[in-house]
Amino acid sequence: MTTNDFLLEINQIVSRDNVLTDDAVLADYAEDAIPARPEEGVEQALPLAVIRPQSTAHVAEILKAATKSGVPVIPYGGGTGVMGGASTTKPGIVLDMASMDKIIDVSLQDGTATVQPGVVLGDLEEIVQHANHFVGHDPWSRPVATVGGAISTNGVGYLAAKYGPMGRQVVGLEVVLPTGEIVRTRNLRPLVSAGLDMTSLFIGTEGIFGVITEATIRIFPELEERRHYALEFDSFQQGFFAIERLFSEGLAPAMVDFAQEDESESGGQPIIADGPGRSQLHLSLEGGSAELDIQEQIVWEIVSAYGARTLDPEVAQSFWEDRHSSGLRYKEARAAGQRHPWRNRGRDARAGSYIHTAVPISKVLDLRFAAIRMFEEAGLNVVECAIWGEPEMFSIIAIDPAGSPDGWQRIRETSDAMITEAINLGGTIEYCHGVGVRLKHLMPQELGDGGVHLIRSIKNALDPAGIMNPAKLFD
Ligand SMILES: Cc1cc2nc3c(=O)[nH]c(=O)nc-3n(C[C@H](O)[C@H](O)[C@H](O)COP(=O)(O)OP(=O)(O)OC[C@H]3O[C@@H](n4cnc5c(N)ncnc54)[C@H](O)[C@@H]3O)c2cc1C
Repeated sequence: MTTNDFLLEINQIVSRDNVLTDDAVLADYAEDAIPARPEEGVEQALPLAVIRPQSTAHVAEILKAATKSGVPVIPYGGGTGVMGGASTTKPGIVLDMASMDKIIDVSLQDGTATVQPGVVLGDLEEIVQHANHFVGHDPWSRPVATVGGAISTNGVGYLAAKYGPMGRQVVGLEVVLPTGEIVRTRNLRPLVSAGLDMTSLFIGTEGIFGVITEATIRIFPELEERRHYALEFDSFQQGFFAIERLFSEGLAPAMVDFAQEDESESGGQPIIADGPGRSQLHLSLEGGSAELDIQEQIVWEIVSAYGARTLDPEVAQSFWEDRHSSGLRYKEARAAGQRHPWRNRGRDARAGSYIHTAVPISKVLDLRFAAIRMFEEAGLNVVECAIWGEPEMFSIIAIDPAGSPDGWQRIRETSDAMITEAINLGGTIEYCHGVGVRLKHLMPQELGDGGVHLIRSIKNALDPAGIMNPAKLFD
């Protein structure tokens, strides 16, 4: 069957205006928020067409046709992914799931919202806020990222310290398998003791097992108050010990955002592995005001034991506001035609890497030390070390200060070495952005031979023609 014949078949399923083949549109949908650099050696291709399904039945018919013809299918949400999960690596059709954006039901009694996958997280938040509720997943990209994309990457947001990643918000899913079969997982997760939790097959698996067409997610009643605090420590280590204590004492802060940054802002004053360095902790507590007064007291006793200084409340408030308005600025820049406004996260064009690993709490400081040493030895500067959410979640930003021609190569090799160290310490290669095409070469190390075999077997069973988002997560 030729491409034209296949597209004619698709035209029988969705109306002609929902099959886009304009060159500019194809180029736009070929990538997500951070296009691969040539040095990364990632496969890239243009989609054959972008299809906008309007219903689960459309998705099922399209996948049936694609399986019959062996045409790759790439699900696409808001396109804010940063690992190439929604990018096109082999000519195929992009399913623009943003076209399925209806809110189906909000049940305050069950504490759930049932939505189509293309609903933008920020729009859902706005709707449930009218009923004095909120969504527990609150990422930077909230104004653009979709429910389907967030589930498929198991993203992490500002409230993850208390509410966990997106996967933990999911109560149940409707998914179309590559063969066109429609599956509904049970709508009571995690309160089920009756066999496999099928929902988890589709959380963080980047659309390689099927297309999410409906999701029921948890919503929470607004709390009386959310208080924000900004604290400063003399070193990363002091702040980390304080965070570790907060969690081990059973406190449940809503937000934990802790960072030591290069104080020059230009990347010229790198972070030293064992040296001091001012580090800021942004912390939020929420609840009733009497309960908050007690929590505040306990927090203060803990953090002051590690030398914390309180910063102006204005610093805390503006941090929270800026973290939320930056997503809106990103959305505006995209609407104004800038395709990749976040390419260097506001930094200049020098080579850089932003790595989000997670390791057991007992290994975080070992990883930080080893990673800074690795980047130093490669002539690269670590300009940020951070903990976001829970104490296990450790990230680093490193740059090539000289902007040298082999900068990207050294950044890539050293980032891989750091991530390998994280795996060796019992950790994971990524805690929030997924694997996509960027980290898939490290998956065999993380999963081991047995893990790779298991995932391949599931993939082959569900997707016999190998059409679903090929060359993502693993080869
Ligand atoms: C400015 C900016 C800030 C960011 N901040 C955060 C942050 O705070 N926290 C965080 O975790 N991430 C963040 N990210 C990364 C990104 O926003 C997340 O990965 C987000 O979850 C992706 O959602 P999306 O709708 O854009 O998905 P896309 O990028 O479109 O797709 C992501 C993956 O999901 C798959 N997919 C999409 N829809 C479906 C579906 N219906 N069924 C099956 N598979 C599907 C795609 O194939 C792809 O593999 C940020 C990115 C940017 C650009």
